[in-house]
Amino acid sequence: MHQRIADAPNKTVKGWERFPRLCRYMIRTRYSHHVVHHRRTFKQDHVTQFQSESEREALDRELADRGHHGQIIQRSGYAVRLHGSGALVFIAPLLPAIPLTSFTLGLWGTLGSCVALALPPLFSHFIHPYLHMPHARAVREAPRATAWLLRRWYFRSMARNHYMHHRYVASNFNLVLGGDVLRRRYRPPAETDLREMQRLGLRID
Ligand SMILES: [Zn+2]
Ligand SMILES: [Zn+2]
Repeated sequence: MHQRIADAPNKTVKGWERFPRLCRYMIRTRYSHHVVHHRRTFKQDHVTQFQSESEREALDRELADRGHHGQIIQRSGYAVRLHGSGALVFIAPLLPAIPLTSFTLGLWGTLGSCVALALPPLFSHFIHPYLHMPHARAVREAPRATAWLLRRWYFRSMARNHYMHHRYVASNFNLVLGGDVLRRRYRPPAETDLREMQRLGLRID
């Protein structure tokens, strides 16, 4: 969903725009994630959301024209956390899985798959904002339990993977590690990428 909807190519969006009512939520999700999060913010680098106050104000003016959806985007910290209809894209895979697994895998299978399927929305909401900060700032500002997680290998690795997604938008979509390898969308960081991460304060160990 991140690849096909939230970061859909322009050509796909043109197709959706022919059916604006039907495709409303996909168009909105793509706008908030791809346009606002990838293009209109973090332009200077991966850890600087706005280069200046005037840049933020220009985006605020654009969002004001979009009415309620614009307000939702602002409340989500400019699409760094889950918000409104955008959350649906992350939660949607959970919904058919619950009846499906309860018929086929029983109670424990259902609970297990729900935990796994809940990770993408949980990470997107509670972890993603800190992936756009230098490591030292992230652990200083995060709540204690989140800061503890951010210091672990898994989340340091997730931060690097997410850097790669912003740098090369056609790869490294998943916050849950391994998903991109399974989908053959994993791009390992090159030496130059690692140097840039280090310069920005991400941990490369
Ligand atoms: Zn993306
Ligand atoms: Zn991001």
